[in-house]
Amino acid sequence: PAPLMAGKKGLVMGVANDRSIAWGIAQAARAQGAELAFTYQGEALEKRVRPLAQSVGSDIVLPCDVSDEASIDAVFAELEKRWGKLDFVVHAIGYSDKNELRGRYADTSLQNFLTSMHISVFSFTSVARRASAMMPDGGSLLTLTYYGAERVMPHYNVMGVCKAALEASVRYLAVDLGGQGIRVNSLSAGPIKTLAASGIGDFRYILKWNEYNSPLKRNVTLEDIGGAGLYLLSGLSSGVSGETHHVDCGYHVVGMKAVDAPDI
Ligand code: NAD
Repeated sequence: PAPLMAGKKGLVMGVANDRSIAWGIAQAARAQGAELAFTYQGEALEKRVRPLAQSVGSDIVLPCDVSDEASIDAVFAELEKRWGKLDFVVHAIGYSDKNELRGRYADTSLQNFLTSMHISVFSFTSVARRASAMMPDGGSLLTLTYYGAERVMPHYNVMGVCKAALEASVRYLAVDLGGQGIRVNSLSAGPIKTLAASGIGDFRYILKWNEYNSPLKRNVTLEDIGGAGLYLLSGLSSGVSGETHHVDCGYHVVGMKAVDAPDI
């Protein structure tokens, strides 16, 4: 049988290094034959992203700061030139001033609220609109979210509010683009140590808590997320759209652990 992603062309946004969630999904897609393009934010990251892209046979590596619409336009103009069409997009981008990812949500500032919403939420809609124009045969759009959208997590603060808005935009986009055969989903990943996660207060404690309390008694790996990402990008999930798919070792189903449950 042909590999799942044979002949499919996809844009991967949000690789910062080899621990990035975007990288985990890119590797899984590549292993099934996908052809990939990457974006990076800023010159410092280009040095990391270019060799990673090369290692999966990609020579389309483009700068993109999603807070700048012209920068997003430039990416899609280049993809139009190189590929002419697109089958999938991975959007694994989020940002908040890390000083506001500790303490209380109540103290969040207007400026950081707007910047976080712009980069973490609006950018997916902005990318989806451009990508859909290049998807005559349908496609799959995927973004990354976290359980802090649904329940209050310590220190997640404005990012929790952003992720809730992101998950709502996934549902609206799923309806807007569904008629074109484009599916739109989010993958709600359990906590995993990445550059972005290091900005969250008490992150090590959050990892421990999830390890002790999730049904699988462990934290997720990049391979776990990559596999589920591949499912959402490929024809395996052809009937799935508007979904928030949890890849968190089952953590989101737990209300309370039994008193006599072993810690691990
Ligand atoms: P990461 O630091 O590897 O990736 C975050 C990416 O966002 C980086 O590549 C960074 O360059 C990019 N980015 C930030 N601002 C940008 C801008 N203005 N323009 C373009 N790119 C920009 O960390 P990650 O954990 O892999 O994060 C990827 C996604 O996964 C984020 O949306 C994050 O919220 C989400 N997520 C992470 C976890 C976790 O525990 N790590 C859990 C659930 C969801």
